[in-house]
Amino acid sequence: MSKAIVSSLYDSDVFRMACRQFDKAADAISLPEAIRDRTKYPRRCLAVSLPVKRRDGSVTVFEGYRVQHNLSTGPSKGGIRFHQHVTLGEVAALAMWMSWKTSLVGLPYGGAKGGVIVNPSELTESELEHLSRRYMQEMVNFVGPHVDVPAPDVGTNEKIMAWMMDTYSNHVGHVASAVVTGKPIALGGSQGRREATGAGVAYLTKKYLEDLKLPVNKATAVIQGFGNVGSETALALSNYGAKIIAISDYTGAVYNPKGIDLNKALTYVRYQKTLHDFDGGEPISNDALLELKCTVLAPCALERVITDKNAAKLKCRVLAEGANGPTTNAADKIIEERGDIELIPDVLCNSGGVIVSYFEWLQNLSNYYWGRDEVLQKLFGMLDKAKDAVDAQKRKFKFSRRLAALTLGIQRVADAKQSRGLFP
Ligand code: GLU
Repeated sequence: MSKAIVSSLYDSDVFRMACRQFDKAADAISLPEAIRDRTKYPRRCLAVSLPVKRRDGSVTVFEGYRVQHNLSTGPSKGGIRFHQHVTLGEVAALAMWMSWKTSLVGLPYGGAKGGVIVNPSELTESELEHLSRRYMQEMVNFVGPHVDVPAPDVGTNEKIMAWMMDTYSNHVGHVASAVVTGKPIALGGSQGRREATGAGVAYLTKKYLEDLKLPVNKATAVIQGFGNVGSETALALSNYGAKIIAISDYTGAVYNPKGIDLNKALTYVRYQKTLHDFDGGEPISNDALLELKCTVLAPCALERVITDKNAAKLKCRVLAEGANGPTTNAADKIIEERGDIELIPDVLCNSGGVIVSYFEWLQNLSNYYWGRDEVLQKLFGMLDKAKDAVDAQKRKFKFSRRLAALTLGIQRVADAKQSRGLFP
């Protein structure tokens, strides 16, 4: 039998990390060779050059990507990241994780991800609008409500989704709200979408604390990253009664054992853009933040921050992965061997975002809109179901919780591919 050609296109630390996770899960469920590579590798990708006229009259060409990992069970789904360190390999890894995530929680989607190599904070509002519109213009024939449905991710937001929806709608000649999710409410965005990822992270964290008989109102939490996911996780945990003792962003971290005043921090970030010089606690390093003693540590920023260098030094009881891929394979192994940390894996922990994106898409397609309570109630119901399935799989096969979640997600994708057969 000929071996699959392993593409060098996506090769990078983070893509190799996602592949190793897949291989381990595929071995654990004895996934047949004939279906493995088809399930593992991204289906297709598009790389685009995005020229943008700058305020001084010059033109900068940005590079953007969209990777569609799997389209076997419905349109592919996943955010678009605007960040200066985006690579095609990273986008491919994130697309792969979207496949397992949507499949695990039972959404009729495959996985995808997009990215543009840009630091959005260095652009004016109008440059950002041109870049966002140009990205969607290039994607017009690659995405669509029944093909691939983008959403926000790190560095993108409702406003950007609105520009993209407008660009796509102008192209097709009618309002196409279901082409992206995470839109403003006025354009068909869903109630509860903005806070959905953080609300889900906090809800699952509370559930796992209950399983451990640790009352959430006595818990302390450390939040790494204070963007949409980090700040909404912090707010929701604090509404449950937990004390947020440290927060951070890429400019540094702040520690306050009495509890961070979150409203003050949010107001500060709204005006200053970062937490730099925020005086709500003692400044500490980003590395020190991860090693603070706490009940809950929630990495809510980028990939690969919990590594073999710090995994042995973590002092949390629950590790809630708000980010995608925050824990390296080596760190996973250390955490498993330690056995004293409950890890809520990314594909489960942060799935609230894409679940409410699914609700948004359903509302757009039916032109019938739900209230916030209904959205949140349905979200928590789906999270409960996914949590129960993951924990049953964990017990049944004595897997780590990550392996339990990945095997469930991967098995369902592989089953769908198997049932569809291979086009001759
Ligand atoms: N970017 C988010 C994620 O990583 C949301 C994706 C979506 O809503 O489609 O899950």
